[in-house]
Amino acid sequence: VMASMAHLQKEKLRLQEELLELQEKLAAQENNELSLSLQLQGQVETLKAKVLEQAQEITRLRSELGGTDAEKHRDLLAAENERLRQEMKACEGELRELQRQQQAPCRDCPHLQENAGLQEQLSQLQREAEETRAKLVELDLEVQQKTNRLAEVELRLKDSLAERAEEEERLSRRLRDSQETIASLKSQPQQIKYIIKTVEVESAKAKQALCETQSRNQYLQEQVGMQKQVLKEMEQQLQKSQKTEAQLRAQIMMYEAELERAHGQMLEEMQAMEEEKNHAIEEAFSRAQVEMKAVHENLAGVRTNLLTLQPALRTLTHDYNSLKRQVRDFPLLLQETLRSARAEISQAIEEVHSTNRELLRKYRRELQLRKKCHNELVRLKGNIRVFGRVRPITKEDGEGPEAANAVTFDADDDAVLYLLHKGKQVSFELDKVFPPQASQEEVFQEVQALVTSCIDGYNVCIFAYGQTGAGKTYTMEGTAANPGINQRALQLLFSEVRGKAADWDYAITVSAAEIYNEALRDLLGKEPQEKLEIKLCPDGSGQLYVPGLTEFRVQSVEDINKVFEFGHIKRVTECTNLNEHSSRSHALLIVTVRGLDRSTGLRTTGKLNLVDLAGSERVGRSGAEGSRLREAQHINKSLSALGDVIYALRSRQGHVPFRNSKLTYLLQDSLSGDSKTLMMVQVSPAEKNTSETLCSLKFAERVRSVELGPVSRKAELGSWPSQEHLEGDSPGSAAPPGRGHASPSPGQLSSRSASIRRKLQTSG
Ligand code: ADP
Ligand code: MG
Repeated sequence: VMASMAHLQKEKLRLQEELLELQEKLAAQENNELSLSLQLQGQVETLKAKVLEQAQEITRLRSELGGTDAEKHRDLLAAENERLRQEMKACEGELRELQRQQQAPCRDCPHLQENAGLQEQLSQLQREAEETRAKLVELDLEVQQKTNRLAEVELRLKDSLAERAEEEERLSRRLRDSQETIASLKSQPQQIKYIIKTVEVESAKAKQALCETQSRNQYLQEQVGMQKQVLKEMEQQLQKSQKTEAQLRAQIMMYEAELERAHGQMLEEMQAMEEEKNHAIEEAFSRAQVEMKAVHENLAGVRTNLLTLQPALRTLTHDYNSLKRQVRDFPLLLQETLRSARAEISQAIEEVHSTNRELLRKYRRELQLRKKCHNELVRLKGNIRVFGRVRPITKEDGEGPEAANAVTFDADDDAVLYLLHKGKQVSFELDKVFPPQASQEEVFQEVQALVTSCIDGYNVCIFAYGQTGAGKTYTMEGTAANPGINQRALQLLFSEVRGKAADWDYAITVSAAEIYNEALRDLLGKEPQEKLEIKLCPDGSGQLYVPGLTEFRVQSVEDINKVFEFGHIKRVTECTNLNEHSSRSHALLIVTVRGLDRSTGLRTTGKLNLVDLAGSERVGRSGAEGSRLREAQHINKSLSALGDVIYALRSRQGHVPFRNSKLTYLLQDSLSGDSKTLMMVQVSPAEKNTSETLCSLKFAERVRSVELGPVSRKAELGSWPSQEHLEGDSPGSAAPPGRGHASPSPGQLSSRSASIRRKLQTSG
């Protein structure tokens, strides 16, 4: 319905536009009519002027004619003319009115009626004109009669003139007779005399009579002359009036002809206008009819649409009702569906769970396999790995040339670093080198595989080696905001153990110990001053253990933090200068991971030893005395022993001198067998530390380079130098105290040639 409404609206707009067009056309036609009527007006104007002229002419003629009968007729004619003119004016007014009405839009066509009225008026006018013409004819007749009468008067005048002439004749004859008688009488004397006398008397009488007659004659003659003159004048007047009449008649004829012509034109124009109007009306009517038909058709279409819509509406209502019913039933349906969906979902979840479990099992198996592969790889690579870490230059390094950077790296090889020592660049190759910008996270990523192998029952040792201030403690312990390997390793162990909790029971315990001057002390015990002993297990397994070493079971990061804090506090309260003390002692964090596979009953034990070694700097050289010297000697001894042990292990010697120091003895079972060891060699990049850096890097490279084949192993048997021997490379070094070695130390080989030899060996 809406669509059809819109369509109808559109149609309506279109029709309105067409109506506007039609109106414009009508207006144009009306303009045409207006121009025509203007032309007509102009003609009427000219006619009016002519009528005015004629009126003037008539007044002129009237003045000429004076008070004759003809003049009276002219007056009448003029009055008639005036009346006609007024009627003409009225006609013009009506015409104007008509034009005005024509300008307005033609609706019910009142023009037709007006036209009829006008035509009536016109016919009336024509009738009046006819009457006028009849009157004119009457006037003509009157003029004729008058002329006839005039002729009669003339005839009568002629008769009287003839009578008068006869009488004059008669009178003159009598006069002549009388004169003859008088003469005859004169010839008869007495009688005659008498007679004469009587005659004379009679003559006197006659004479009187004659005189009288003569005077009468004269009067008559005068009268005749007068009459003649009058006649002449009258004739002249008649002639004139006849001329004027002819003129007037011609003018009237002309005027009538013009009037007729104008009338004819007017009629023609009116007829044309009417035709045009009728035509326009017809056209508009036909168009309107066509439009009306279209509208009707549209309406019919809409009606049919409506008719078709009705069933749709009915179906819609039906649908709506059914929907309403459905909506009413929806909650129930929804509940039903929800229940079934829930059941389905829980079933699906169950299925997913079982699949997950299966996947997890497979994943674990794969992990085991991967670990095996990894361990094999590590075994092939050698269980002892050596990393180097260069700390950034700090404020403590001071300023100026002493604090300049002396360590550079190889952009393409992350296992190589260069040290600028006394103007010479020495290169070192380790398993991996961490530049100063390496984060704790990055460092830990490299060691986390070692840490996790602990869970599988492997023993692991991670040592931080280097001079005091090179970053050992930073790497192992780190800061609260940026923890080191210790805390990260325990966190990792926790998360790994948690992941295996479904099948395994794990117990993680930590112990913290310190070796100072070859004495082992428990950092978590109640008696920290008590020296602990390392003993063989009485069960004959060959395992070592430390009786009295406190073990804390930890289950979360908070537990570890508590343990660390506890140990730290102990250390702080025990010594006056912690920094000094810590750099002179080895700090150990021993993490034991004991696992039990619930399904198989298999037990595993793995140990993770995290060792922050004492500073490797050579104190003895500067002539230290007393306790300081003793400390230095102990450190030197233990670090040398560590070197010896690692060397012996990597070169797979039959005898490994674990017992040479407390440190190696304590870590014996974590260094031997398929245990894994990582040596993190810390160096300072500062210029002032280059000789110590050189020593540390040489130590590192020596540890690393001993991974050799059996033949070369033999050749290098027992060639590990003492700590002090490491100084041999630096000029002006003191004579090495302690254990001496006759054989040339591998440290005397250049680091490059050592690594080349290793490469040759492995490829051979
Ligand atoms: P060490 O334990 O070997 O004597 P420290 O770990 O105490 O050395 O480090 C000495 C200083 O250098 C400390 O202030 C430490 O914060 C800083 N330091 C060491 N290594 C780094 C490093 N990688 N990034 C930032 N600062 C370091
Ligand atoms: Mg330290």
